[in-house]
Order: sequence, then C-alpha cells, then structure tokens
Amino acid sequence: MLDWLIIGGGIHGVHLAHVLIHKQGVPSDAVRILDPHERLLAAWSSRTANTGMRYLRSPLVHHVDLHPASLQRFAQDLETAPSDLWIEPYSRPSYALFQSHCQHVIDTYLLDRLHIRGQALAMHRVDGGWCVETESASITTQRVLLATGRQQLRLPDWAEPLIAQNASIQHVLDSAFESEHFGDTSTVFVLGAGMSAGQIALKLMSDHAVTLITRQPLRHQDFDSSPCWIGPKCLDAFGQANYQERRSMIDEARQPGTLSQDIYADARAAVQAGQMCHHRSEIIAADVTDDRRIVLTFVDGTKRIADHVVLATGLQPVPPEQTWLADAIARYRLPVAGCGYPILDSTLRWAEGLYASGPLAELELGPVAANIAGARAAAERLRQI
Ligand SMILES: Cc1cc2nc3c(=O)[nH]c(=O)nc-3n(C[C@H](O)[C@H](O)[C@H](O)COP(=O)(O)OP(=O)(O)OC[C@H]3O[C@@H](n4cnc5c(N)ncnc54)[C@H](O)[C@@H]3O)c2cc1C
Repeated sequence: MLDWLIIGGGIHGVHLAHVLIHKQGVPSDAVRILDPHERLLAAWSSRTANTGMRYLRSPLVHHVDLHPASLQRFAQDLETAPSDLWIEPYSRPSYALFQSHCQHVIDTYLLDRLHIRGQALAMHRVDGGWCVETESASITTQRVLLATGRQQLRLPDWAEPLIAQNASIQHVLDSAFESEHFGDTSTVFVLGAGMSAGQIALKLMSDHAVTLITRQPLRHQDFDSSPCWIGPKCLDAFGQANYQERRSMIDEARQPGTLSQDIYADARAAVQAGQMCHHRSEIIAADVTDDRRIVLTFVDGTKRIADHVVLATGLQPVPPEQTWLADAIARYRLPVAGCGYPILDSTLRWAEGLYASGPLAELELGPVAANIAGARAAAERLRQI
C-alpha cells in the first residue's frame, strides 16, 4: 500500500509530491502521482503554449521547487541576460525559463518515476486507507491527495451547437487547439478579456486579421487577485468567516478579464497602430454560412463575419459533486459547503486519509488556491499533519 497517492500531475501534484518526499521525508517508493497524460505537467504546458505566453503572471518565487529562491538561482546559472529571463515589476519569469526550471526539478529529483498513467474514476475506503480505481488498475494507499485542478473549458452558450457542426470555433485552452490551418489572410475573432485572450490575439495578429472582442474595456491588473491573499493580512479575516462569506470573499477578490501591464500595453499599442481591432460588445448568437464562415450577432443587433473564432473564455469551475467524486461524497458524507466545495480542516484534510489542493481547497486557502502560490500554501498546510 502506498503512503500517498496524488491524483493530478500538474503544478500542484508535482510540487506537493516533491515536498512530501524531499522536505517531509516520505520514501519516494511510497508516493505516486496518477495523471492520464503522457508526461507530468502536460495540461499546464499545452494550455500555456497554446496562448503564446511570454511571461508568467506570477513572480519568480512561485515555482515547483522547494526553496523560494530556486528559480532565481537557476536563472543566474544560465548565461543569459536577466532582461530575457524575467520582467519587472514583480520579477515575473519568462515562460521559457519557468518551463526549463520545471523540467530541471523533475529531472533532478526523478519525479517522473512517480507517475502512474491513468484517470481516477472512483474511490472507496479500504482497511487503513483508500482504493482508487482507474480504467485498468485499483491502487491502494493510506492517503489520497486530490490535485486535479480545473479541466472543463468554459464555452459560451451560442458556441456549443456550432462546435458540434464543426464550425471553426476553438478554445485556446483545449489541448487540441491549433491555428496552423488558419489561412494567411483569414479573419480571426478572439473572444475574452483576460491574459489568454490578450496573448493569443497578439500572437495571431502577425499573420491574420485579428479582432479582440471584450465586453468591458481592456483593463490592467498585475495579478489575478491581490498579493495580500498570500499572507495573514487577508487570510486572517477569511479564516474567521463562515463558508458562505468565504465564497463571496473569493468571488470579490478575483480579477478575471484583466491583463498584466506588459500585455495591456502591447494590446493597446497594437490596436492604436491598426495591427489588430478591438470590438467592445457582447455576442448573443452565431451561425455558420454555406462556405463555413461564422456570423456573429452582437447585443446591439450588428453582425460580423469571421473565418475562425478563438474562445479565450477560461476554465469552468465545477463543484466536486458534479465530477467522479460524487459517489464518494455521498457514500462517505464528505462535508461540502453551500457552493458545493469541500470543507477541509487547516491541514487540508477532507476526511481520514483524504486531502485536497488547488480549487478544491479554495474555502481553506482563499482566492490564490488554484494558482502556483496555492500549491506552495498547500505544502505549508500539509507539513502540519
Ligand atoms: C493559460 C494559463 C496561464 C496561467 N498562468 C499562471 C501564472 O502565471 N501563475 C499562476 O500562479 N497560475 C497561473 N495559471 C493558473 C494555473 O492553472 C495554475 O497555477 C496551475 O496550472 C494549476 O495547477 P494544477 O496542478 O492545480 O492543475 P492542472 O495543471 O490542470 O493539473 C491537474 C492535472 O490533474 C489531472 N486530473 C484531473 N482529474 C483527474 C483524475 N480524475 N484522475 C487523474 N488525473 C486527473 C489533469 O488531467 C491534469 O493533468 C494559469 C492558467 C492558465 C490556464
């Protein structure tokens, strides 16, 4: 029987496995990471590569290794000018640097040897722990750590029927996203106001006629929630609130649909220089023409035609009761708040031998739970077990 089975091989699963083994001394052969992809970090890597990310939104101290200065030291050992490795303010690492550092940590600590390829489909209690069922195996473990992140793409209502008709509407965070087939002169509408939208619009505009469609004006915000949520300044009041209040505090703290300073400045400059268009409105309907072009109808009744539509509308939060965990929640009466999310204790324990990180730990860790900072905060809590 394993000591720990971590379900999910993303940033959270990888960091927490590393912490358990190399900080808390759990033997490496007693820890495994279950993830369906060929490689660890695959979901993160494909989504971020699709957007054309140049710099992370988070600072240099947020990464998968143990010591906060690890990424900075790794950068200093490279013979590259610092200006190519991170961007100020807040020392945000370049995507290339962050990715090489992740691979360096995985290789150095042999973390890929922990990977079991598979998808958790169900789990039930056994003597001394849990048994997790995949399509091909039953894995028994004393403790399970859920690090499954968010996986469901957020699709506007009008888009779903057209995608079913094979219209050229793709979500940029879809692992199957590809823009290579877009013809050189094609018209591309990018929908969304956040980082993914800004980045993919800037990436595509060199070869295509791009229009960025946002409901709001473009807005600048350095982070997707205030850094005060990493420390006691905001978290003390959060910890004293009830779960309904915590959910409201999380919703209020988040700044979706905002751009970091560099992307904001580049997008505005591109619009001013006529390199891309910005249309502020809301799409209420869409249709496909006989020659497979997409007609978008806006809230003011106007219509526009695109060859391709790229949705950069983020990932959909899905409460665990609507996932493969539904049966375990019902059978073992795992506590959930009114919003459907787990009620964990301060060590992120949901039940005997069952722990959670990422979005599932939001009501304990606050608005940064799903971010890289959330993985590091989760590690601190798990250390108290
Ligand atoms: C484009 C983009 C850019 C971002 N940039 C930043 C940034 O700069 N800084 C920052 O802090 N955050 C950023 N984020 C937020 C980011 O998603 C998180 O920081 C990080 O990827 C979350 O890691 P995770 O491990 O929770 O989730 P994921 O990376 O989604 O990994 C979860 C893994 O669990 C697997 N899984 C799910 N269900 C099961 C199951 N039943 N069985 C087995 N495996 C399962 C999934 O397949 C996936 O591989 C960004 C997000 C996106 C989409």
